[in-house]
Amino acid sequence: MEYCSNCSHPVDYQAVEGDHRLRYVCNQCQTIHYQNPRIIVGCVPVWEGKVLLCRRGIEPQLGFWNLPGGFYEIGESLETGAMREAMEEAGLSMSIGKLIGMYSVLHAAQVHIHYEGILDHSKFHLTPESTEIQFFDESEIPWNELAFQSNTLSLKHYFECRKSDIWTTKRTEYYVNFEKED
Ligand SMILES: [Zn+2]
Repeated sequence: MEYCSNCSHPVDYQAVEGDHRLRYVCNQCQTIHYQNPRIIVGCVPVWEGKVLLCRRGIEPQLGFWNLPGGFYEIGESLETGAMREAMEEAGLSMSIGKLIGMYSVLHAAQVHIHYEGILDHSKFHLTPESTEIQFFDESEIPWNELAFQSNTLSLKHYFECRKSDIWTTKRTEYYVNFEKED
C-alpha cells in the first residue's frame, strides 16, 4: 500500500500505540489501514462417486486443475459463496454437504474453506475461468497437476473420509499451515 484510500496522501508503515505490529498509517487523515487475510471458499463437487475439477483459464496457476472456488463476498454465507462460485466458474448446480477442510494459507494471506458440493446433475459449462472440466474418480485425479495445496489436502481427505466411518463420526475440518505452494 502506497497511498491512503481515504484521502490519497502517501501512507507510512509504522508502529501504532497499543498494537502488536506495524500498520499502514495515513498521517494526514489519521486512518489506520488494517490488512487481514482474505477468505477463499470452494467445494469438492461430487456426482455418482466422482469429483469434478476445473482447469484454470486464469493466473495464478494457469492450466492447473482446481476445485471451483473464489473470494467470499460480503452479505453471503460461506455455503452460499461456495455455490455461487461453482455456478459462476462452471455452471454447476448443487447443494452443500459436509465441511471438508479449512486452511491457513500463510504465504498468500488467505484462508481456504472447502465444502462437499452435492451436484444436482452432471451438467456444467466452460467459462473463461475454467477452460476444461472433467469428472475424476480417485485413481484418475491428476495429483501432480493440482493448482493449490489446499486442493490436494481436501481431495485426499474427502476420499479418506468416504472410505472410513470418520466421515460420519468425526469433525472433518482441519487446519494446516504451509509456507509455500509446490
Ligand atoms: Zn488519509
